[in-house]
Amino acid sequence: MLIGVPKEIKNHEYRIGLTPAGVRELVANGHKVIVEKDGGAAIGFDNEQYIAAGASIIDTAEEIFATAEMIIKVKEPQPQECKMLRPGQVLFTYLHLAPDPDQTRLLVESGATCIAYETVTDARGGLPLLAPMSEVAGRMSIQAGAHHLEKAQGGLGMLLGGVPGVAPAKVLVIGGGVVGTHAARMAVGMGADVTILDRSLPRLRELDSEFDGRLRCVYSTADAIEQYALEADLVIGAVLIPGAAAPKLLTRDIITKMKKGAVVVDVAIDQGGCFETSKATTHQEPTYVVDGVVHYCVANMPGGVARTSTMALTNATLPFAVALANKGAKQALLDDAHLLNGLNVHAGQVTFKAVADVLGYEF
Ligand code: NAD
Repeated sequence: MLIGVPKEIKNHEYRIGLTPAGVRELVANGHKVIVEKDGGAAIGFDNEQYIAAGASIIDTAEEIFATAEMIIKVKEPQPQECKMLRPGQVLFTYLHLAPDPDQTRLLVESGATCIAYETVTDARGGLPLLAPMSEVAGRMSIQAGAHHLEKAQGGLGMLLGGVPGVAPAKVLVIGGGVVGTHAARMAVGMGADVTILDRSLPRLRELDSEFDGRLRCVYSTADAIEQYALEADLVIGAVLIPGAAAPKLLTRDIITKMKKGAVVVDVAIDQGGCFETSKATTHQEPTYVVDGVVHYCVANMPGGVARTSTMALTNATLPFAVALANKGAKQALLDDAHLLNGLNVHAGQVTFKAVADVLGYEF
């Protein structure tokens, strides 16, 4: 199969659909890969590395879209990219169609087969192509929080792990899923005093066993949230209610009573945020202050560490990309119900029920 990897064109997006290592795997499976010139240059994957891995470098996205049988990307296609897709072509990328009627219409009109990373499932009921970005955001939330606890960044002037003779900072992680677990792991590793809250008792049991007494696992109630938030130096918001906006768990009233110079990182901001005072920010201007509390609410945290994120994403997408290329999209989708769950648009039809329902397409 001829596989095309265009350069991402969304503002400040530096990730790319395949690493050179991913290209090498596909080439070893007998496929041809074309990569847009300088597509990975911003994150240290230069044209020479792609050529060494067996790819050909192509000057323009137009040539890639015109010839490739499958396009592998990161972000949802922008309108000019949607218009270059054609019937029979496979698009494998994040789509997030439910809130995006314009993109959905363009993909339907294209006639292409569009497989969304975010709805591919796994045998344990997880979302294996979303998980790597949650791992990145979870780990990064502590790095960002620790940085903004520094005085010059508006924080309390506090070192997360303390030093011998000085108590460590208190970190509260609300939500013990993928983001929360990876945040907790970093915070524990840096020597902080960590409490994690979740509403799932089975999840709390797993966390308790995994961390073996190195953090507090507490059932999430309004009372517990208030108690631990008022003591906290750093709060990480990491809840998810699938298919719904995030609940506002940290109220304005609690924020007002928190320590001045405390930092709150709302990772759930991409679902509307789980703090009442949250509003989305960017890597260029990541924070703002409400009642003395520093808020970090970057909606695309993994974009800030685009090299790590690209490598983590390729690790997760590559087995599916290889199956699509080796078997052809139709057979690969028929053989794997989890990959089939990723199919959102095919040959002019919306093929994902939740998207069809929300946007009023026949299903
Ligand atoms: P997940 O499903 O793995 O975990 C969510 C956890 O929240 C679950 O364990 C659930 O039991 C728990 N939860 C639900 N309601 C709760 C409550 N009231 N109190 C405490 N816990 C509660 O989800 P995830 O992959 O960890 O993602 C968490 C959030 O982070 C999502 O909103 C996701 O979209 C977001 N996210 C944001 C970025 C970013 O760049 N900002 C990147 C990745 C993920």
